[in-house]
Amino acid sequence: MVRFTVLASGSKGNSSVITGGRTRILVDAGLSCRELFRRMRLADEDPETLDAILVTHEHQDHINGLAVTARKLGIPVYFTEGTHRAWMRWLTPRRQMTYAQWLEQCRQQAAARQAEAESAANAPEPDAPGPAQASPQPAEAIPQKDPTWLPGVEYFCAGEAFQIGDIAVSPFTIPHDAADPVGFVFQAEGVRLAVATDLGYMPPNVKAQLQGLDLLLLESNHDLEMLRDGPYPWSVKQRVLSRVGHLSNDAAAEFLETEYDGQAAYVILAHLSESNNLPDLARVTAERALSGRASLLANKLLLAEQHQPLSPINF
Ligand SMILES: [Zn+2]
Ligand SMILES: [Zn+2]
Repeated sequence: MVRFTVLASGSKGNSSVITGGRTRILVDAGLSCRELFRRMRLADEDPETLDAILVTHEHQDHINGLAVTARKLGIPVYFTEGTHRAWMRWLTPRRQMTYAQWLEQCRQQAAARQAEAESAANAPEPDAPGPAQASPQPAEAIPQKDPTWLPGVEYFCAGEAFQIGDIAVSPFTIPHDAADPVGFVFQAEGVRLAVATDLGYMPPNVKAQLQGLDLLLLESNHDLEMLRDGPYPWSVKQRVLSRVGHLSNDAAAEFLETEYDGQAAYVILAHLSESNNLPDLARVTAERALSGRASLLANKLLLAEQHQPLSPINF
């Protein structure tokens, strides 16, 4: 069975669940763990059966509940190395020190280790029998102290496909103002699904990935006029409109009309702005773009929502 469920989509949080065979993956964890679990249960997905979390990029609307969810379930998180580093920087308060201060810190840490080793050597033998006494487990103490601790971290690279259980994952680079952002194509049991949000425009490598699909989740972030006339400060408008910002309704429609092969059974418009878009505007723009497509069975158009999950789509 292959199943895809959008739990949330938009600037306040993004997350989807994909099931292929016996494997279940959470793609982004942009809501709190509690809310993710609540929505999964609403959509008849059991959180306890998740095998891994995949992260597209480190913006808050994609990673808000990441650490708590991964720890609660004891499952690994798949990042690019750049995204993992950026996520750790985001969680770790910045500490600046001079070179002299750094040297002094190193000296103190070395002295502390030395003192610890000496006191351990001088300590009386414990009563525990034999040489097989359990060694101390300092790692046990780390999770509480280290906000970046995760049960498992796996790195992938854009352009290099890999497998998580029964699901093949092909990550591809997207143009967005994050450290190393990616979209994904998933394949399981002959079904191909793509997730492509948070991209400033559609470069050739992305267009090439979004073909031969059964399901396409595509960003349709803003209406250009609403954004220009809307409430955002000028600098934020520039950011959204830039080549590393977000895809407009028109840009999504242009792809759907001209270069997309028209084959996906489902097209889901996603990451709609609540300030600079209206669901009807996004829908009408995409419908117009898809209207010339020959296959009537394909391209059932859905809109992903911010505040509630979509019904699961089964293949
Ligand atoms: Zn983003
Ligand atoms: Zn986003």
